[in-house]
Amino acid sequence: MEKLRNFINGEYCDPTTGEYIDNYEPATGKVYSLIPNSGTEDVQKAVDAAEKAFPIWSKMSIDERSKILVKLSEGIAARMDEFTKAESRDNGKPLSLATHVDIPRAVSNFHFFATAILHFASESHNMEGVGVNYTLRKPIGIVGCISPWNLPLYLFSWKIAPALAAGNCIIAKPSEVTPYTAYLLGQVAKDAGMPDGVLNILHGEGHTVGDAIVKHPKIKAISFTGGTKTGEYIARTAAPVFKKLSLELGGKNPNIIFDDCDFKEMLSTTLRSSFANQGQICLCGSRIFVQRGIYDKFKAEFVKRVSETVVAEPNDPKAKLGALVSKSHLEKVLSYVKIAQEEGGTVLTGGERVLLDAPFDNGYYMRPTVIEGLSYDCRTNQEEIFGPVVTITPFDTEEEALMMANSTVYGLSATLWTSDLKRAHRMANEIHAGIVWINAWLVRDLRTPFGGVKASGVGREGGWEALRFFTEPKNVFVKY
Ligand code: NDP
Repeated sequence: MEKLRNFINGEYCDPTTGEYIDNYEPATGKVYSLIPNSGTEDVQKAVDAAEKAFPIWSKMSIDERSKILVKLSEGIAARMDEFTKAESRDNGKPLSLATHVDIPRAVSNFHFFATAILHFASESHNMEGVGVNYTLRKPIGIVGCISPWNLPLYLFSWKIAPALAAGNCIIAKPSEVTPYTAYLLGQVAKDAGMPDGVLNILHGEGHTVGDAIVKHPKIKAISFTGGTKTGEYIARTAAPVFKKLSLELGGKNPNIIFDDCDFKEMLSTTLRSSFANQGQICLCGSRIFVQRGIYDKFKAEFVKRVSETVVAEPNDPKAKLGALVSKSHLEKVLSYVKIAQEEGGTVLTGGERVLLDAPFDNGYYMRPTVIEGLSYDCRTNQEEIFGPVVTITPFDTEEEALMMANSTVYGLSATLWTSDLKRAHRMANEIHAGIVWINAWLVRDLRTPFGGVKASGVGREGGWEALRFFTEPKNVFVKY
């Protein structure tokens, strides 16, 4: 059985605990590799290495740092096939998705921040006749990056690329559920010429090694993406020691469809925004609100298309949905179907596990599910399910749609479908969300601010926002 290893000080090494955790292949439900069950001593080793590397990396010219990050990006692109297969196997997502979305995006993340840093400037404020202020933007030092399992390398690189570009050294932890592509990344970084100790990648459980990263006094900032409950714990733990925090958390995103939308385009995009990556994207629109005039038409055509959607093993080119990430997650998602029924909802299609033929008969497959007949404030419509389950709810007025959309504790993203430009702007202005798509979904420009409001997080990633997060501003005044 293959054993994954930590990457510390430019070398692969075993965990000091000597312990390993099983790594399951979601497509088959079988263990296929072992993950280091790292502990506090591994974090200490990584921090020691990062401390030594920091003066080298932070004082390197921006040009040199940029070149290393460009090489890192090219290094992933050169091993595209290996990375896409690994991501799909580790996560259960269709290979086509890993090939078209996950790994190309990881390549872009590194390339984007490798070049963004060349243009990152700081401010100066002149005081006429008095003096001038200028702002230095210094790297923070050692930072912690903790990422989830749904878009493993995509979200891992979305943090570590800006952190590295800004001159920080990193202690990073991918999700224990999907560690493989982060494991491969160590070698790519080494081959790109990254000095030893700059990027340290530790594997293991959140409540042990993740917690040790959050608590370590020399790790000055934490960039975290994951569940709201974990984010809350991290915020509570980091607050007394005044760590800088970026928290990208859960969502329960509304997809609001007006009578006057482009129906065809809306329908095909709504299929994606509901079920891409088995509905396990924080930006998926899981609450679909449809204006009464087209509700019946939408329901008929959407349910037909969803029921025809192919659920298959990830390497099958016909697979639109692969396996969910783990047995426990599949059970959690299925439990919400039961809750929805108890709350009076009707399952229009799906709602059950899919049993494929051997060797995939123990895989974590589920039919995409559409539920109607629920009130906007029931548990199914308020809590994050994070799987292939959506609800559909009719509405009459803009005010009603807005009230229901804004009724959850979350505020990550929202999608609006309408041909009325004034209404689109009005709604976008009022909706509780960090990201609003109008007549589109998941169109991403890496320069734009990314993140949520309310329980969906604190702070923003992307573009200058990320580079500002990973630097500390220092104002200097010089008297004339
Ligand atoms: P979790 O919060 O369970 O875990 C996220 C990461 O944090 C994992 O690496 C996990 O490790 C680690 N972790 C868990 N507990 C601790 C702890 N006490 N201290 C430090 N680290 C810890 O989230 P999931 O992995 O289940 O991801 C799904 C969630 O992520 C959903 O809520 C989704 O909405 C959210 N998400 C948000 C996005 C956004 O941009 N806003 C984007 C993508 C997902 P381990 O897995 O080993 O336990």
